[in-house]
Amino acid sequence: MHDRMLAAVNPTRAPLAALPEDIALPALDESWRIEYLSTKTGRIGVMMEQSGRLTVYGAVTDHDACRAVLIRWLKCRTREELVPWLYRLAEQNGFRFSEVLVRGQKTRWASCSSKGTISLSYKLLFLERDSVRCVLLHELCHTALMNHSRRFWTLLCGLEPNCKAIHKRMRDGWKQVPAWVEGRIERGPSEKGFVWQKGGTR
Ligand SMILES: [Zn+2]
Repeated sequence: MHDRMLAAVNPTRAPLAALPEDIALPALDESWRIEYLSTKTGRIGVMMEQSGRLTVYGAVTDHDACRAVLIRWLKCRTREELVPWLYRLAEQNGFRFSEVLVRGQKTRWASCSSKGTISLSYKLLFLERDSVRCVLLHELCHTALMNHSRRFWTLLCGLEPNCKAIHKRMRDGWKQVPAWVEGRIERGPSEKGFVWQKGGTR
């Protein structure tokens, strides 16, 4: 369902941001130091060298491409970590869903369709673990009840007693998503290079 409960992004935001030197992922309890390595290879890639170090290599003066590759990496971490977490929670609590997609929704942390397809935003990586768990349980509850009725909340609160407090706290959760993630690069008219603007490219 188009989930107003899990609205993620404040549309009035207008960030100006450079590429990140660090990426903290509270959902995974991880923090990454990013290095940009200019190499002659035409394409841009990303390498997880050792725990906590990430190297973006290639034509790194192309900030747009750097950002795209970092977002691809975020989607990858979501598939590696949050998707299996969703499967575990489904199994533990007796829910079934048909498939799970990782996306970059502009305004939702997650959603569940009437056909049982759960979509997760990679931006969940920037929330605390208890918030993410609550979002995953919220969508799993929608596989049983496609509404926010009293029965829905009874079901969700039975699985996560703090769910209402967590949802309330998550109203400000969009602030935890770094500007470089939400920003869209536009090539400026001058030598100054790139300008980040509000809005996504997904
Ligand atoms: Zn919902």
